[in-house]
Parts: sequence; structure tokens; C-alpha cells
Amino acid sequence: ADGLHTLGRWTTDRSLATPHRIAIDDRGLTLTYAELERRAANLAAAFRAAGYVTGDRIATLTGNSSDHVVAFFACAKAGLVLVPLSWRLSPRELSAQLGLADPQLLLVEDDLDALAAAACSLLPQPPRTAAPGPGGVEKSVPAPTRLLRPEMVPAEPVRAVRDDDALLMIFTSGTEGASKAAVLTHANCFWTNLSLSRTLDMASTDVVLAVLPQFHVGGWNIQPLLAWWAGATVVLERGFEPGRVLQLIAERRVTMLMGVPTQYRMLAEHPDFAQSDLSNLRHAVVGGAPMPAPLLRIWHRRGVALSQGYGLTEASPNVLCLANEDAERMVGYSGKAYPHVAVAVADPVTGEVLDGAATGELLVAGPGVFAGYFRDPAATAAVLAGGWLHTGDLVERDADGYIRVVDRLKDIYISGGENVAPAEVEAVLLAHPAVAQAAVVGVQDERWGETGAAFVVVRAGMATDEQELLEHCAAQLSAVKVPATISMVGTLPRTALNKVLRARLRQELAGRAPAAHAEG
Ligand code: ATP
Repeated sequence: ADGLHTLGRWTTDRSLATPHRIAIDDRGLTLTYAELERRAANLAAAFRAAGYVTGDRIATLTGNSSDHVVAFFACAKAGLVLVPLSWRLSPRELSAQLGLADPQLLLVEDDLDALAAAACSLLPQPPRTAAPGPGGVEKSVPAPTRLLRPEMVPAEPVRAVRDDDALLMIFTSGTEGASKAAVLTHANCFWTNLSLSRTLDMASTDVVLAVLPQFHVGGWNIQPLLAWWAGATVVLERGFEPGRVLQLIAERRVTMLMGVPTQYRMLAEHPDFAQSDLSNLRHAVVGGAPMPAPLLRIWHRRGVALSQGYGLTEASPNVLCLANEDAERMVGYSGKAYPHVAVAVADPVTGEVLDGAATGELLVAGPGVFAGYFRDPAATAAVLAGGWLHTGDLVERDADGYIRVVDRLKDIYISGGENVAPAEVEAVLLAHPAVAQAAVVGVQDERWGETGAAFVVVRAGMATDEQELLEHCAAQLSAVKVPATISMVGTLPRTALNKVLRARLRQELAGRAPAAHAEG
């Protein structure tokens, strides 16, 4: 029967099996599985009573919170799509994402009211301003009574939720600059968690510390959702404060953690790291960006086997993992495919799938591969060409089948775990009246993994400087995307076909002093 793999069932199942166990510890406020189920079911009923129908999009702008988890399971039960938006965005970026997601409802946490209002004010006026109909955006809070929209008449009879219905829409940095919304279905999330459960032996006695923001796929699919499947406890953190995280690991006897390399570096560099009690931490996963080997060793010396993983949003996200017993021997590798995931290495020019030891683009197939980009059939067809998900990552596979990422074919760089498209930053620089040409490259950075370095050619007869351009960028872009440095140059090195030679720009930067990063 269809619908058996839908996630709305998970809290129902757990509320029968382990009703009194703590599902969520949100800054000391706890929610049992029975309460999580009751609240999610009530909110799902309120959504339906208010006229929301299968496939409607509920956008959220909130820090990690138990309310957000309730909203997630309510959407899962009611057949709605949760669209968690980043609070790191500038109003301009947020309005662009709202414009694309076209949500029927936007739920905003009180602290983020001003950001939401600024973003909504930049949206083109909806056709009817007096009474926002379906497709219009309204602001509300997750209290059921505030969700009632009497003017909405259900467009179709409510039907049972199906496995292939959309559940989550996560924005990713498009390589062309504009962000795209990756649609993940119930089946995608079911299979990625089933796959993870076979490598991460999570039990109801586990305590997961969730520090990744819930507007990333890792805020749901890597450990928290598996915990709510297994009946474990999730300690939810809003922000990432290394001293507090170390304290929580000790006090709450955290057994599982997932983070990006920058977070593990911040923890390792904290003065309390050497003395902190990490004895319960039996599984710490690192992913999202390459992990420097020396940092991996620091954690291994503290007795924590950090497992390397590789994934991307479009694969829900798990693709590769390195078994704990290989952690030391294969430092720098991301490992082999997760269960129920197929991978291949293809010649980046001809697309031919290569056997044995090979270097090429990593391709992925399996039930975790996403349904496509929302309202973008061309980009979807390109990324799923030939029945494979094209990762845009260049990998090397050795004779034993171990894979490591060696370069990126797609034009992004990753700063502190956040993907940045140089094209998006270049477009903002080019919008400044004094800028004639602009190029941005990602450069190695010890703390953030990579940061952006911009090069601009100033328009003849006009003047500007680094400070003015940095302020121009900061007004339009989230902090992570603001370049660490902006250099004025006479010309940009280009190929015969007029493409900027990014490698040449990177060479030019090598040897200069390391740059500071805009703190976000
Ligand atoms: P999250 O957004 O939750 O951090 P994610 O990093 O898995 O999830 P994306 O933001 O879509 O997903 O970024 C995916 C890209 O990150 C990959 O295509 C790859 O370029 C890079 N990446 C992820 N893991 C690794 C890794 N272990 N080594 C090198 N690059 C990685």
C-alpha cells in the first residue's frame, strides 16, 4: 500500500512504542514522544481545517526549535511541504527565495519579524492585496487558531499522503547564482534514514546533539530524524557556541553529534576542549566539506573517532561514509557508498562511466536522490541527466573502491559549511555603478575551509575602494557571502573565449597574507 513510508507515521509509531521517552530537549523544555505526536496531529488537523491541501508549501523562518519540529511532523501528516528558510540571509536574498518558493503560508519566529517584514516588502505585490488568496503570502505564528483562513476553500478533496509526495524543500546555492529549491519526498527521507540506520546503530537510549541549522538538510536528515525514528532524545541547539556545546556534551551525556569541519575546529580550539568530558560521545560525524587530516587526528587523540561522510542536499544527503575502523588508515577519504546508494565515476568530458581505479565526476543513484528543483525543469533535467545525479564533484576512486573528493567541477566554494556561488557575489559587485568587471574565487582558509576573494576592474572615470564595495556587498548579501578581500585590478585574466581564468587569480593570491572573514 502506498503511504507506508511517509514520515507522519513516525511520531505515531513512537508514541505507541515509547510514549514517555523524551523526544526533544529544547533549552530545557522537554517534549515526550506522546506530546510530540499530539501536537503534530493537532497542527496537521488545523492546517487541513484551514484549507491547506496536499502540496501546499509552508515556509518557516525560525531558529532550531521544538515548534519547528512539530511543524515538520504536522506537514508530514497533512501532506504539506515544509520550506525552512535561512535566517542568515539578507532581506534581498530572502525575498528572492520567498518569490521562488511561493508559499501559501509563512511562519515566523518573533525574533525574526523584522527580517521577514523587510523581505516581504521587497516582494512584488500579490494580485489581490485585500484578502491574500491561495498563493499570497501571509505571516502567522504556529498557533492553530492563527492559521484559519476562512476565504480559502479546499481546491480538491483531502487525500492520503503518498510516499512520493514532497515533504521538504531546501534551498541550495545554484552555480549560476540564483538559489534553487531542492524537493525531497517522503520516500527520499525514509530511505536515507533507513540507510543511515544500517551504519549508525542508533538506539532509543542515544542522545543526539543537533547543532546544524534546520534550514539545511543536515538539520533534519543526518541525525535528528533518525533519532525520532529510533525513539532517541534530540538536544536542540539554536546557535553554535563552542563552549556551550562542550558543556552540553558533558552534562547531557551526548552520544551522537554531527557537524561541519569549521565547527569541529572551533570545538578543538576552545580552551575547555582538553578537559571536557567527551566519554559518552560514541559517534561524531563530520561532513559538508573536506576535513583537514590534522584536525581529524586531534579528535582521534581525544578518543573520539570522527567519521567522515560526503553528501549533498540533492541526495538527501548521504552518499559516502568512511567506516570507523578505516578512519586513521584512510584519512582524507570519504569512503564508500552508504547502503541503498549507488555511485559511479564518470569521465567529466565524455560522460562515460569508468571502471576500477579512476578519476572523474561522482554520480549517484538510488531512492534518496531528490525529485528535482522546484519549478525549474531545465536545471532538474541537467542535474539528473542519464538517470544519474551529477554531483559536480571531481573524485578519485582507488583500486579498493575508496573514494575521495579531489576538486569541484561546479562553480561554488564552501565557507564554514555554507555553499557560496561566486556568480551570485559577482552579480552584486557588478550592480555597483563604479564596477565594470568582477570575479570571485574561493581560496583556502584554515578556519572557514574557504573564503571568497574578489577582484574588480573599476569603470573608467569612476572611483571606489575596498571599504565601499564591502559595505555594498554587506547590504545585499548574507555575511558568509561577503568576500574576505576585494582587490582592484587593471584587467582580469581571461581565456580566448573571454572566460575568467580563476586558477590564475588564485595563484595571484597565493603568497599574500591570510585574510580575515566577515563574521556571521
Ligand atoms: P548541509 O547543507 O546540511 O551542510 P551538505 O553539505 O551535505 O549539507 P550541500 O550544501 O548541498 O550539502 O553541499 C554539498 C557539497 O558539499 C558537495 O557537492 C561537495 O562539493 C561538498 N562536500 C560535502 N561533503 C564533502 C566531503 N566530505 N568532502 C569534500 N566535499 C564535500
